[in-house]
Amino acid sequence: MNVASLTIDQVRAGLRAKEFTATELAQAALDFAAAENAKTNAYLHFSAERALSAAAEVDAALGRGEDPGPLAGVPIAVKDVILVKDVRNTCASRLLEKFVAPYDATAVQRLEAAGGVIIGKANCDEFAMGSSNENSAFGPVRNPVALDRVPGGSSGGSAAVVAQGTAVVSLGSDTGGSIRQPASFCGVVGVTPTYGRVSRYGLVAFASSLDHIGPFARNVRDAATLLQSIAGRDPADSTSAFAPVADYSGAMTGDIRSMRLGLPKEYFAGLESETGGLVEKGIAALRRLGAEVREVSLPNTEYAISCYYVICTAEASSNLARYDGVRYTSRAAGANSLAGMYRETRGEGFGAECKRRIMLGTYVLSHGYYDAYYIKAQKVRTLIARDFANAFKEVDALITPVSPFPAFKLGEKLDDPMQMYLSDIYTITGDIAGIPCMSVPCGATHDGLPVGMQILTNHFEEAAMFRIAEAFERNGGIAAA
Ligand code: GLN
Repeated sequence: MNVASLTIDQVRAGLRAKEFTATELAQAALDFAAAENAKTNAYLHFSAERALSAAAEVDAALGRGEDPGPLAGVPIAVKDVILVKDVRNTCASRLLEKFVAPYDATAVQRLEAAGGVIIGKANCDEFAMGSSNENSAFGPVRNPVALDRVPGGSSGGSAAVVAQGTAVVSLGSDTGGSIRQPASFCGVVGVTPTYGRVSRYGLVAFASSLDHIGPFARNVRDAATLLQSIAGRDPADSTSAFAPVADYSGAMTGDIRSMRLGLPKEYFAGLESETGGLVEKGIAALRRLGAEVREVSLPNTEYAISCYYVICTAEASSNLARYDGVRYTSRAAGANSLAGMYRETRGEGFGAECKRRIMLGTYVLSHGYYDAYYIKAQKVRTLIARDFANAFKEVDALITPVSPFPAFKLGEKLDDPMQMYLSDIYTITGDIAGIPCMSVPCGATHDGLPVGMQILTNHFEEAAMFRIAEAFERNGGIAAA
């Protein structure tokens, strides 16, 4: 058994043929992950006990001749902002270094109900704020493809573990690109479902109106299988959607003839030429497969980053207010007043990026600035969503780059937050509109750095998105061009 390259289908086949047991696979994945972690720092901690007991249940079910579920025995990593009961959940913050999750996120419950085996918690940017994983209080993650480079962020650990093969699939979270950008940097598939498609219950809130949980995988089919297992209404999250979950696997027919694909012209300006060239090849391949490609326009794209940083900081300043030393976190010693305790706990606990966002968000929500910034940003959000709605009257899906450039060197953009924010220019809009979007591998630069192609569809049209991605992958990606 080679843990590093297994797919969900291969795990299923291997268990059925008794090539290995779920317990052997879990142990092998844990051992491999611990060894690889010395290189990449992609896991913050492991959940060996929980993994081995879940695996034992799968083995027992198999022994009784029962179907242990679509994810039976599959080793899975979970971003350390998604709660796994009795396992530490740090959000990559000093503040929550000792916090142990009191319950399971709904997505985690559903993974295990489908037979999944959670082996550990993946590193990320502190409270999911960042684009390079360098904002983790426990050290950055190194990109397994090129160890001197970042894996992207904020779900950098979740992307890296799938790329290095220590987990078959993983869960990340995406608020402004945090699944798709690291997926593109590490050369794996990353999916941000429609807002409300996956319950946020048990996801530590960053910006609640933008937060999504979604899968990482080494191929499109595995990502679809993972999403299929966790999607659907959850009474514990009032924003989770009632819409029925489509059959993703049945939608992946390989046939995209006469599908109408739009290229938003605003997304092809300002990207590095090698990245642009690879995405052009990806588009040529889709054309070869029979899709009809035309140019479209999303005219409000240029306001997306400003709009995002007003809304996400406003929501973050409110969501992070609870970390004050009273509950959840360790309490700063030495303060002799309540205000002093808040100040010192937060001052010591939060990293620089969190502080920057709390201050920005408090400012845009403050009396006198609320209308000028927050309300204005909400109006712009509507305009951006309307751009997409108009485009989807003409086309079935949009095809764009994921990031203007491939994985950059560790430290390269640390001193310039604006440069860092710009790396999300093509991904933020999907979260603002709440539509499904994904990154699918689209070749590599001359230096061997992976590049991703983004596919976006209308609300709850994940099935069409997977159909395009899987047809592209099945035909060899850019090789079909
Ligand atoms: N990089 C963006 C940010 O820093 C997006 C983060 C995310 O999607 N969680 O906010």
